Amino acid sequence: MSTPETLLAAISPIAGRRAPAVRLADGRASLILDVTGLSGDERSKMEGAIKAILREQPGVTEVRIAMTSEKRGRRLIAVGSGKGGVGKSTVSANLAIALQQLGYKVGLIDADIYGPSQPRLMGTEGQRPEAQGQKLIPVASPWGIPMLSMGHLVKPGQAIAWRGPMAGNALGQLIDADWGECDLIIADLPPGTGDVQLSMMSKQKPAGAVIVSTPQDLALIDATRAMDLFAQAGVPIVGLIENMAGYECPHCGEVSDPFGTGGVQAAANVMGHPFLGRIPLTLEIRRASDAGTPPAAGEGAEGAPFHAIAAKIKEWLEQPAA
Ligand code: ADP
Repeated sequence: MSTPETLLAAISPIAGRRAPAVRLADGRASLILDVTGLSGDERSKMEGAIKAILREQPGVTEVRIAMTSEKRGRRLIAVGSGKGGVGKSTVSANLAIALQQLGYKVGLIDADIYGPSQPRLMGTEGQRPEAQGQKLIPVASPWGIPMLSMGHLVKPGQAIAWRGPMAGNALGQLIDADWGECDLIIADLPPGTGDVQLSMMSKQKPAGAVIVSTPQDLALIDATRAMDLFAQAGVPIVGLIENMAGYECPHCGEVSDPFGTGGVQAAANVMGHPFLGRIPLTLEIRRASDAGTPPAAGEGAEGAPFHAIAAKIKEWLEQPAA
């Protein structure tokens, strides 16, 4: 019987590093193929050849290939988490602002169809993007960051009922929008590891992924699954962020740890990924976020951890290509 390893070995003479992993479940072999730089013809040839090989392997009844490619000149950083409510959107919004302050021309995509919260976080609620020809024009936020959210396209709660392909199409529109001069797009992904993440990657391969988790074990296990998905697509992990670590009492200043602390850093060490930093749980972050005034845009101490993390991401972005 075939195993993911034997399947990978069978296709590697053709796919090489373009397909870093093969999954096998119930006879269905699936993989993500990086077709960056190949012509349409070359893509279909490679896809056909891989399919032909996999179909001949014992125990394989179906083959699925998702293709992905990088876009020239514009890098996309995906912000993911294993589950909702860990502050992924808050972190994305603040990192977009902090990275802009470091000199990038940043755009923000809210791909979280289950809870598109960027319009509220960035103060663009109720705005609708215009379209020019086939392309959407991103909404201008008060922070100088053009953005597009599923929340700008549908009423709150409506997108939740969408099935994979529909959500994938809508997401494609966000990525293919007229991003003008933006050289860096931060994409706030829905939590988990489903079709939406895959369809986004088939539109544009992220240059890297940032993973947000709270310190407790359960959230971390979920985050590990999210990282597996990126690994299978050959998307490097920029690093992990611990959010909601340590609560500073606004009255007495004492720091307590409602969700524990240090768990994400420990996990990052074990997994061999960089740890990007820790963001405390504070009333001010919650209040500012809900008011549409991201702390990273202000002068307050609350913005500091986001700026420190953005500096590490910049370092990563500017390292020479391997
Ligand atoms: P996700 O995108 O992971 O679902 P959100 O970014 O929407 O999570 O955050 C969920 C809630 O937690 C929001 O009300 C947000 O304001 C709050 N929140 C996120 N990070 C912090 C933090 N570090 N301190 C206080 N509140 C936070």
